[in-house]
Amino acid sequence: MEKRARHRLTRRYPEAKRQIFVSELDTCVHCGAELKLRPNWHMSKTIQTLQGPLFLAGRAKMCTNAECSHCGTRYYASQVCLLSLPESTYGLDVLAYIGWRHEHDQRQLVEIQRELNQKGIEINERNVGKLYRQYLALLGATGEEIRKKLDATVEQQSGLIFGVDALQPEGHGSLLYVLYEILSGTVVSAIQLEAPNEKDLTNWLRTYQDYPVLASVSDGEERIIAALRAAWPNAPRQRCQEHFLGNLADEVLANDTELRKQMRVDLGGLPKISDFPEDTPLF
Ligand SMILES: [Zn+2]
Repeated sequence: MEKRARHRLTRRYPEAKRQIFVSELDTCVHCGAELKLRPNWHMSKTIQTLQGPLFLAGRAKMCTNAECSHCGTRYYASQVCLLSLPESTYGLDVLAYIGWRHEHDQRQLVEIQRELNQKGIEINERNVGKLYRQYLALLGATGEEIRKKLDATVEQQSGLIFGVDALQPEGHGSLLYVLYEILSGTVVSAIQLEAPNEKDLTNWLRTYQDYPVLASVSDGEERIIAALRAAWPNAPRQRCQEHFLGNLADEVLANDTELRKQMRVDLGGLPKISDFPEDTPLF
């Protein structure tokens, strides 16, 4: 099902913009060694966003330090979670738009469907309903499935790496904050705020404060940093490294043979089956 959808979408949006993400971490949280970039993508898909179709792919990094207690740990490009939920072919901005228009502006789903169609999003009413339910699940209490995933990650990695980032969906002033766990590539929760403040963000994160946290990752937004410090005062914080290699990489490409070679690997298609992590769900 997923394969068919991906195939169809790839053909339908040949001109989609490309964004290739790499893991935001530079060093292993267990041993501090520099991480090695994996040669292939660990995920790729084409999604519909309010800004148009977007092709996105992620490259993981891996700890190769033989002395490390967790040598072989892969750090995925979890920032893709901010753009689209795992297995979804719609952007998170579309979910946020549907949720906000329905909850806040009391628009019916069929009206929202029409608005989205006018904005160039191909979607039927049934899928608007499905995305609305996903939006509610994202904003609701963390489900048992997610708890299980986080517990299993704690077991394997002796802790979690939480990342928080915000996106501003087009068409209204609210911000959607997303909490994701990097080692398992899990989207944990989200909160949508019209006038975000540190207190709201801290209260939201405190739901998860009992988890052992190896590190937290965010961009430079002060409210987020303060909330992360309040929820996990002892966790080292890493600032997000470069978010993606997208059009920039394409421009550099013309002059850089080495990079061109590397990009050829990227453009070669989906990663080999053997490169997919065996025990970690793709996202
Ligand atoms: Zn390590």
